[in-house]
Amino acid sequence: MSDNKHFGRGFGGKGYYIALILCAAAIGITSYVYYRNTENVEEVSVQESYGEDVLVDVVATEDVPALATQPQATQPAATTPPSTAATTPTVKKAMKTVSPVSGEEISGYSMEALSYNQTTRDWRVHNGVDIAAEAGTEVVAAADGEVYTVYEDDAMGHTVVIRHQDGYITKYSSLSQDVVVQPGDTVTAGQVIGYASDSALLETTLGSHVHFSVTCQDKPMDPAEFLSIGQ
Ligand SMILES: [Zn+2]
Repeated sequence: MSDNKHFGRGFGGKGYYIALILCAAAIGITSYVYYRNTENVEEVSVQESYGEDVLVDVVATEDVPALATQPQATQPAATTPPSTAATTPTVKKAMKTVSPVSGEEISGYSMEALSYNQTTRDWRVHNGVDIAAEAGTEVVAAADGEVYTVYEDDAMGHTVVIRHQDGYITKYSSLSQDVVVQPGDTVTAGQVIGYASDSALLETTLGSHVHFSVTCQDKPMDPAEFLSIGQ
């Protein structure tokens, strides 16, 4: 019985040590697995950070040696968004406008009331203004824009149409044949586009002049109102 007791005690003692070793091993494995997991998480966050600049600041604070060069490379990019955001409002400035030709207004804008046309000898609306100008007088773009069309109108003679910002379109008629711009050209306010003449058959009694009209979002507007935008 004493042997059994001894055996039992001895086995119990050995079992205690085995259990202790197993526990130690288990702790070791658990720690290793946990370490590997945390390592993987770090690797994932590092890889993501290369794809998106937004994450760089977060990762950079984690003291990862591999990212030592990352903050330097992205610092200029990080300062770019605020600067562009600051310049955006200034881009949307008022449009500069200039009169297409200097001269006396001989026929006014009249879309709501009929006005008498000396050439056709009838009453009709007038979608623009007629500005007297000697043949060959330079006609300029009333604002920055892009030439949309250049054509010869049966009634209004040689015509140039320019599209501007905010849906404005300006039209210059009764020009001479030697128009100096073509569709697609970018023009600036005050740039010569053609010359005055008496090519508008509908307004021949006015002599040499420029018929200037404006639309906004495809609706006719008083050219005087348009010219007042940039002044
Ligand atoms: Zn006219």
